[in-house]
Amino acid sequence: MSRTVYLNGDYMPEEDAKVSIFDRGFLMADGVYEVTTVLDGKLIDFTGHAVRLQRSLKELDMASPIEMEDLLEVHRELVKRNNIDEGLIYLQVTRGAPADRDFVFPDPEKTPSTIVLFTQNKPGLANSPAAKTGMKIISIEDQRWARRDIKTVQLLFPSMGKMMAKAAGCDDAWLVEDGHVTEGTSNNAYIIKDGKIITRNLSNDILHGITRAAVLRFAREAQMEVEERAFSIEEAQNADEAFVTSASTFVMPVVEIDGAKLGGGRPGPVAARLREIYLEESRKTAI
Ligand code: PMP
Repeated sequence: MSRTVYLNGDYMPEEDAKVSIFDRGFLMADGVYEVTTVLDGKLIDFTGHAVRLQRSLKELDMASPIEMEDLLEVHRELVKRNNIDEGLIYLQVTRGAPADRDFVFPDPEKTPSTIVLFTQNKPGLANSPAAKTGMKIISIEDQRWARRDIKTVQLLFPSMGKMMAKAAGCDDAWLVEDGHVTEGTSNNAYIIKDGKIITRNLSNDILHGITRAAVLRFAREAQMEVEERAFSIEEAQNADEAFVTSASTFVMPVVEIDGAKLGGGRPGPVAARLREIYLEESRKTAI
């Protein structure tokens, strides 16, 4: 059955949602996005995603096409119209469609931003079997641009990274720069050593994950020790456990890094506990 999607102020069937060939999202990847998870028909950490969207727009000097209160309403309306119990809401804003292709930004007065939202129905998202088996990771060089703190739609290298992982019989790739892991292709990366949770510190080098912020907060509240610093693949291979976080995978254990097994190749107790706490607490505050 066709989804109801949202495009520039209107709800419509997905077949009717059309964007110009001159849209800068299409021509130049001049756009930003967010993915918000729906559990029990409610939005997880909506405010975090809305605030990060505003920041991405501001960093790129892109006009916001919608007020934040209206954005919440659109999310809720899409959940309702598409009957989503567990799934995702994808949102994208681009610098719009000027009359022609040009590197120079168009005047926002004449060229409004394009905004698109659509749902992805994912029954069983929170009960993913992968959380029980864990993921196998390869490491590759981080060849993305230097403003990874902005959530842009330039996802070609992360996409290539996932293909490289697949070709190697693995699930995902961790990106390495100057000998240290930045993050996963679409998630933040963590290791656990002697009970301490270690994850890269925030900077322009990584996306400031909304799930990362929540998980670190819950970990500290549970009296777990957290260290925000860079780590190498070698350190990760010698860790007790490893995991990744993202809005769509929550906390997902990593059991193998470049062929080296962690914890005998089975998910460890700390990652499992963090996943449990994250899901429980997020459900409580979902709106
Ligand atoms: N890093 C990258 C590169 C990502 O693409 C994502 C998810 N889009 C994340 C981290 C995780 O961010 P969040 O927890 O906000 O989904």
